[in-house]
Amino acid sequence: MKMDIKLPIPRPQNRPIIITGPCSAETEEQVMKTAQMIVDQNLEIDMFRAGIWKPRTRPGSFEGIGFEGLKWLKKVKDTFGFKITTEVANTQHVFDALKIGIDAVWIGARTTVNPFSVQEVADALKGVDIPVFIKNPINPDLELWKGAVERIYNAGITRIGLIHRGFSKFGNTIYRNVPEWQIPIELKRTFPDMMIIVDSSHICGNRELLLEVSQTALDLNYDGVMLESHCDPSNAWSDAKQQVTPFQLKEQIIDRLQMRHSGVGDQVFHHNIEDLRQRIDAIDKELIQMMGNRMKVSQKIGEYKKQNNIAVLQPDRWNEIIDKAMQMAGPLDLSEEFISKVLKAIHQESINHQERIMQGDRKNEQVN
Ligand code: PEP
Ligand code: MN
Repeated sequence: MKMDIKLPIPRPQNRPIIITGPCSAETEEQVMKTAQMIVDQNLEIDMFRAGIWKPRTRPGSFEGIGFEGLKWLKKVKDTFGFKITTEVANTQHVFDALKIGIDAVWIGARTTVNPFSVQEVADALKGVDIPVFIKNPINPDLELWKGAVERIYNAGITRIGLIHRGFSKFGNTIYRNVPEWQIPIELKRTFPDMMIIVDSSHICGNRELLLEVSQTALDLNYDGVMLESHCDPSNAWSDAKQQVTPFQLKEQIIDRLQMRHSGVGDQVFHHNIEDLRQRIDAIDKELIQMMGNRMKVSQKIGEYKKQNNIAVLQPDRWNEIIDKAMQMAGPLDLSEEFISKVLKAIHQESINHQERIMQGDRKNEQVN
């Protein structure tokens, strides 16, 4: 589908887009104080955010202040001139947010996963020319994210942006939601000019990693950051661990971020980059060729296993492969996490090949 998507908000010239404000609107005082602190820092921001309805994973925690909080957001807009934005998840949210004069809305990660909900929001927005940001779904499903963009676009909204907030994980990682950078990168191939913002707060889940994750996003050509800020982060009613004061936001993150340029006219630079890219292309070719070779060997093993009626999966052998690879990883400056992911993917492909050999035989037996 050919889409004519426009920028939801203007791209500033020499700095990233900044959307900030508390995770949740808690009290009028907290919302106003946070906005005042942003002004006191001389921090130029593009939008002030606050959650009014909070979709919490488990019940029992603060689920948002509701309509009352929208009036505080409006007060921020009237007092400080900030554009305001909040999350909407159903028809009532959309109508309420529009009623108080919201400047943009975003669709949260727990809503993007559900096509019924996205469609409900899209229908409620029909005929309203308002910018809509769409967060990635909590599960790493590119099609769901694309589908949400299409549903909103089909409702007649043309100013659409993406917000990358990371994906749910199982097991331990340093992130609250793993970034899986390859997913937004892939989405950008479908929608090359669409604005994309990183929500480092929900990726990190803590304050320590905010700068690093935000910088990675800018290095990948993202347009800006959404970062939660709060006048008193440690006592926030939601997401206390990841919020920062407007002072910390400026001093520890925004002022340290470096903007990179996507296209540079400089000839020497261009030549060097081209040279390196050709080397990368050659290595990628070789890697794929080698994997093809590996699969051929693996297929031979599969045939041998079949003749001798041996199970496809041999756990001892697999552990041995992983152990050997881990020993090699360190000196090559490759993380164990990365090597283990790559090997698991290769191993899975090998198993698929070998299974096909085993099953193919069974199918033939049935036919005969
Ligand atoms: C939020 O922005 O406060 C929020 C709930 O985000 P997400 O939908 O990414 O979890
Ligand atoms: Mn939050």
